[in-house]
Amino acid sequence: MTASYAATVETSRGRQYPEPAPAYRTEYQRDRDRIIHSTGFRRLEYKTQVFVNHEGDLYRTRLTHSIEVAQIARSIARTLGLNEDLTEAIALAHDLGHTPFGHAGQDALNACMKPFGGFEHNLQSLRVVDHLETKYAEFQGLNLTFETREGVLKHCALKNAKALGDVGRRFIDKTQPSLEAQLTNIADQVAYNNHDIDDGIRSGLISIEQLREVGLFADYYDQVKWKYPELDENKSVHETIRQMIGGQVTDLIQTSEQNFADSGVVTIDDVRAHSDTLVRFSEDMFAQSRLMKKFLRENLYFHHQVYRMTRKAHQIIEALFEAFIQDSKLLPPEHQLYAADARKSQEEADYARVVADYVAGMTDRFAIKEYDRLFNMSNQLL
Ligand code: MG
Repeated sequence: MTASYAATVETSRGRQYPEPAPAYRTEYQRDRDRIIHSTGFRRLEYKTQVFVNHEGDLYRTRLTHSIEVAQIARSIARTLGLNEDLTEAIALAHDLGHTPFGHAGQDALNACMKPFGGFEHNLQSLRVVDHLETKYAEFQGLNLTFETREGVLKHCALKNAKALGDVGRRFIDKTQPSLEAQLTNIADQVAYNNHDIDDGIRSGLISIEQLREVGLFADYYDQVKWKYPELDENKSVHETIRQMIGGQVTDLIQTSEQNFADSGVVTIDDVRAHSDTLVRFSEDMFAQSRLMKKFLRENLYFHHQVYRMTRKAHQIIEALFEAFIQDSKLLPPEHQLYAADARKSQEEADYARVVADYVAGMTDRFAIKEYDRLFNMSNQLL
């Protein structure tokens, strides 16, 4: 049963270029399908979540992460009576703008782009769906609905919001996005907090002993050990993670349902006008989840082995960016066309954006190969 405050096709703000309604799908299903068929979506398979793709076959990539976010978000959407199709579309598109090499790549590209307006991955996800996917005859980008685009643009600096028109409006007016967008944002955190524990333990970079210092993990782990004292470590960890996800999902559902009732929202317009977001953890779970994030930041994301890869990623991104900024003839032909267009505007920032789009679109291994092709004299592949 869809709730009255859910996003609906009937109340949708529509697409930038009006199109006839799909014959056998909803508008949001069409958004989801366009996302799945996009080039950017396929590239997620070879983009780092935490571990660079070639470090191991079993670690999460941006693609499997996005699928896990969609799974968690859809289950919650169904229970809360929200729009499951819209939720899925936002979840599958939410990381499309990520650079190669995860956050290291984003930080490096942002530093390179500092004189030209900076680089934000949320904004880039919107650029991918609005501009950079070029396969449709009648429009640029994927021409997604307003609600999917709104959900993709999770955060955005005020100066950038002003240039975005309708979808940037809420950052200026300080209004809220749909409940489906709010939900996907938290489902993202539930997914990465839990799968990073799993990948972190499997990689040997963090240990169960360390994790037992984090309340959220310790509580569930101790329960599992009490209930199944003979269970081996692999299964104990998996059982703990599965129960942690279940606990967080249940907390999120119960707290959000209470918030919906307390706030008195009836329509999506009420949701947007409300003073704060309504899809939330309880205060206790919010605090516990923050502690887990802090633990992962200190012990996994800044682990010296991860950090070494991070340094290399910085070097590759910086070197590629500099080379293309110095000489546009190094760009592949189709990007040279964009570069020629950008040059017409006489704005240096427009050309820098063409370079940033090209670098951001690379997968980890493509970036490594491109670096090798450009800077390794013994590499004969051009
Ligand atoms: Mg994500």
